[in-house]
Amino acid sequence: MGNAAVKAQEREKELARLRAELREAEEELAEVLRELEDKPEFGLGVGSPRLYEWEMNLARRDQLRERIASLKEAIERLERGEYGICEVCGKPIEPERLELFPETTLCAACARAQSQRFRR
Ligand SMILES: [Zn+2]
Repeated sequence: MGNAAVKAQEREKELARLRAELREAEEELAEVLRELEDKPEFGLGVGSPRLYEWEMNLARRDQLRERIASLKEAIERLERGEYGICEVCGKPIEPERLELFPETTLCAACARAQSQRFRR
């Protein structure tokens, strides 16, 4: 088996993993949206557990929407053959890093350089 064949196989595996994660996130979002339809009475007052739960669901919904958008982007990049390549230096991104942050477009070194720039 040549190197290219191994790569293609890995890409398929990664694509399947990302699609499964996307499906999961979409199912969770549907569930959160169902729960959000059941709005608490705002007369309950601040500190009501029902209101608190509703607000938690709002935050969860936003998180899930972001996750879904970045997973979709990762899938598109993978389909275009750009996935796993650092946007800045063009080197392959560390596999451990991709496993933790599938949507990342930067290798560890470039990500570190960028976060240091933001911090200052
Ligand atoms: Zn880089």
